[in-house]
Amino acid sequence: RRAKQERTGVVEWTAGLDTTQRVDLRQLTELRGGLRSGHLRLHYQPLHDATSRAMNGVEALVRWQHPQRGLLPPGLFLPDAERSDVILELTDWVLAEALHQAALWRRAGHHVPVSVNLPAAYLAQDRAVPTILAVLRLERVPADLLTVEITETAVLTHPDEVAAQLAELRLRGVRVAIDDFGTGYTSLGLLPRLPIDELKIDRSFVVRMHDSPAHATIIDSVIAIAKSLGMKVVAEGVEDEPTAADLARAGVDLLQGYHLNRPVPPEAVPLLPARPLVPAV
Ligand code: C2E
Ligand code: MG
Ligand code: MG
Ligand code: MG
Repeated sequence: RRAKQERTGVVEWTAGLDTTQRVDLRQLTELRGGLRSGHLRLHYQPLHDATSRAMNGVEALVRWQHPQRGLLPPGLFLPDAERSDVILELTDWVLAEALHQAALWRRAGHHVPVSVNLPAAYLAQDRAVPTILAVLRLERVPADLLTVEITETAVLTHPDEVAAQLAELRLRGVRVAIDDFGTGYTSLGLLPRLPIDELKIDRSFVVRMHDSPAHATIIDSVIAIAKSLGMKVVAEGVEDEPTAADLARAGVDLLQGYHLNRPVPPEAVPLLPARPLVPAV
């Protein structure tokens, strides 16, 4: 196996039962270098009020401006980063960059709430909350302009640490969202105990709502539960107008997806129409 590693730079090992994970060590080293040389970028995808369609914040999404390979989507480098400590340094950068951008927008007169994806390993560190609060102070951005998005898996892999950190963040005014809801294993019974402001229904449910009555029913149930717990509901991956209209009718609060706006570089955000150029129903 070592011989193979030297040849290809790919390490393979078995984690847990039968999941074979591969990490491209050469690319990971290159990513660490790219991060330190300023090659990472954030693009921002708007979230829209489901009824008025007005823009109501953006989600920061990381990209790697690779000198040879071009602009790389996170799917090509985040999984490796998440299996190493590179993810911690990367997340520090994402938080600093996104909040710096929020401060720039604010100074230019734009009130743009920003959502940032936080991996489980980041929140499991004792320094996570102090670091986030320090960046907010440094940039003089009010805490309620920041939403942190975490996945169900994050909550379940480190339930105690993560719940405590989230509770502390909320106490300071930061908003908390559960990302990709429906793809993990959160028991519905756990939901009332989680300190959460927002549920983001995963794209896999949204794209199937018109051809699968079961998926549509699940969406309705998630909306009902979230509402009864005082949470907002976001639908991600909205790719067409009938889907957007039905989600709005079903009671979803915010819409995100290519139908409304794609992720764009920061300089494009203030130029986007406050309402997308689609017929609002
Ligand atoms: P996510 O947080 O669920 O982000 C939404 C993803 O769906 C983004 O992909 C976005 O471009 C894509 N998307 C939005 N609307 C549509 C649509 O209508 N159709 C389709 N097919 N896709 C849509 P992206 O930017 O490639 O990011 C993928 C995932 O990588 C994110 O999923 C998130 O889990 C992770 N990620 C992205 N940026 C960061 C980051 O800064 N830190 C961490 N830890 N994770 C990140
Ligand atoms: Mg997200
Ligand atoms: Mg999401
Ligand atoms: Mg998703």
